[in-house]
Amino acid sequence: MDYTCCTLCPRMCRVDRTRRTGYCGCSSVLTAARAALHRWEEPCISGNGAGGSGTVFFSGCTLRCCFCQNHQISSGHFGKPLTAEHLASVFLRLEDQGAFNINLVTPTQYLPDIIKALDLVRHKLSIPVVYNSGGYERVETLKKLEGYVDIYLPDLKYFDPALSSKYSNAPDYFEFAAPALQEMVRQTGAPSWKTGSSLLARGTVIRHMVLPGCRQDSIRLLHWIRDSLPPHSFLISLLSQYTPFFHSSDYPEINRRVTSFEYGKVVDAAIDLGLTEGYMQEKSSAKEEYTPPFDLEGLNDF
Ligand code: SF4
Ligand code: SF4
Repeated sequence: MDYTCCTLCPRMCRVDRTRRTGYCGCSSVLTAARAALHRWEEPCISGNGAGGSGTVFFSGCTLRCCFCQNHQISSGHFGKPLTAEHLASVFLRLEDQGAFNINLVTPTQYLPDIIKALDLVRHKLSIPVVYNSGGYERVETLKKLEGYVDIYLPDLKYFDPALSSKYSNAPDYFEFAAPALQEMVRQTGAPSWKTGSSLLARGTVIRHMVLPGCRQDSIRLLHWIRDSLPPHSFLISLLSQYTPFFHSSDYPEINRRVTSFEYGKVVDAAIDLGLTEGYMQEKSSAKEEYTPPFDLEGLNDF
């Protein structure tokens, strides 16, 4: 796996990233915007109370979601260049700070360096590695992560190609995300927990955020999950806190919050399908999704 003819993600740009950039806009220099404890993931990842998930936010992204809350780094590419050795030190430092896991956020475009960094320190880390992505992945790439990743935390965003094309510029999103999720579940097996705690040690958590006006698409995804993944082999996290961000105003139909009715219908469908292992939110508790400051915290000394 390297950057010289990049096929890391479904865009399959085949560019030499040591000389130019592909669709994601990332060169071969690994870049990240923040490495810090984060308490805003699902409770099985962030825990409750002290500590948190040791998140490393990588710059760039292979998707272009019009509602991206991290657009400053995903399309703006804000971040600091790091070597694999720096990244390895970041992982160790996060564990020293009390991280429950190493949470790689939007990592796909830098996997060659991330694997190098993990090779350097894997034997010293005693916490799980979380792969946190938009779900737009190639199975061939995921197979190279077997043995490196303990927990997959993918989004499953869209079923309908028209929606994924319009809002994330990826008409083939589901075509790739569906087998990618199956591969993730195959690698991790059913969820298992850190002894004596509610923290996940291994497993796959499928995240789905209900979009305004798109509840039927959400329900199609739930049917696919029920029909395509072995029962009890994953957790599901149904998110209600869609917040218009970035270019959402270019699409008036999604430039609003999700209603209680919309979210409730999706939750009802999940319950009817028996998809109850995981997380659902009280609509009354929906809040603007927390976006951490991208201020190079945890990276300034490199
Ligand atoms: S990671 Fe970037 S350069 Fe590589 S295939 Fe994907 S979009 Fe293209
Ligand atoms: S996958 Fe996530 S980080 Fe990437 S553009 Fe979409 S919302 Fe932003």
